[in-house]
Amino acid sequence: MSEPLVGRMREFGETIFAEMSAIAVRTGAINLGQGFPDENGPAAMLEVAVEAIRTDGNQYPPGPGLPALREAVAEQRRERYGLEFDPATEVYVTVGATEGIASSVLALAEPGDEVIVFEPYYDSYAAVIALAGAVRRPVMLRPVEGRFTFDPDELRAAVSPRTRLILVNSPHNPAGTVFTREELQAIADVCRERDLVAVTDEVYEYLTFDGAEHIPLATLDGMRERTVTVSSVGKSFSVTGWKTGWVTAPARYVRAVQTVKQFLTYATGGPWQRAAAYALRNELPWVEELRKSLEAKRDRLILGLEEAGFTTYRPQGTYFVQADIRPLGFTDGMELARSLPERAGVVAIPTQVFYDHPEEGAHFVRFAFCKKDEVIDAAIERLRKLSG
Ligand SMILES: *Cc1c(COP(=O)(O)O)cnc(C)c1O
Repeated sequence: MSEPLVGRMREFGETIFAEMSAIAVRTGAINLGQGFPDENGPAAMLEVAVEAIRTDGNQYPPGPGLPALREAVAEQRRERYGLEFDPATEVYVTVGATEGIASSVLALAEPGDEVIVFEPYYDSYAAVIALAGAVRRPVMLRPVEGRFTFDPDELRAAVSPRTRLILVNSPHNPAGTVFTREELQAIADVCRERDLVAVTDEVYEYLTFDGAEHIPLATLDGMRERTVTVSSVGKSFSVTGWKTGWVTAPARYVRAVQTVKQFLTYATGGPWQRAAAYALRNELPWVEELRKSLEAKRDRLILGLEEAGFTTYRPQGTYFVQADIRPLGFTDGMELARSLPERAGVVAIPTQVFYDHPEEGAHFVRFAFCKKDEVIDAAIERLRKLSG
């Protein structure tokens, strides 16, 4: 019998995270692969979800999301970034940022349209572009003086008459880059000149280091009207399993997203929405403590990886460090990542899986530092064996 999967999804097998997490479980290795924290979010926020489940929070919420959460999101965009969104028509709650991005691409890209992505990219982007029948056009992020960035001329050259969307992720997973105002301006210029819509993934908006400032693309001149901004509760409040996110955009884009989202999942889990509204209003000081602790964890992991023989790139945000494996005598990150659990008892993600041109990322592996200090220390201890 022939493979039942539709042709446009055949290049997407099991995600690398499933494969690597399964190896971690089988071998008892320390999992610095998938990015999820090993400590809980703020206790009072968790209580709001529990209370909603115990009482009256268990039936369908409104499709667009609970008014309390839409209002809290609008207030967050106003207070933090000076962006005004009408909670009734310009904010829409989705099943995590993942569904926000998927609904946006499915709603805005016609089959055959081209979508620009910065490579390496978060793995769901390629799959959802394929589901839409659209075509991805990668623009390379390359390390320049220790930081991953792009060449504005390459960005310009990637735009064709079929280009419709550009996906922008900052702070960037897996590169760790927080786009500067200058970089965002280059993106904004291309969007305006070529009449593109930007879909931004800002799930790490609070998790930036060394004073790097997260600047939403929508705050740049002329961009609010052509940007669909996506964020979520998962990374900011250490609840990656809650899958509760939101889209903010001009009403006509929100209506487009709504048309798709309402038939994917209709609504988003109610108890998590109540808790997310509470968290955005009351737990931002907790997020600042998380940010500081992640910055220290980043430094801890980088120091250890360098001592173990890797060359590292210092991320300005997110949960992840890129490590160059060549100083240890390795060249293929896929091979190393597959053998690392047996060799050293640690799981990492081969960065090449995030590329259209895997050779560009062949010598990188990605380590997550959103873990308890003792877990990071134990992983480092094990990784020292690689050079010994
Ligand atoms: C974790 C992550 C997501 C997924 O967010 P959810 O709210 O869990 O769907 C999206 N984009 C990037 C870059 C991420 O790292």
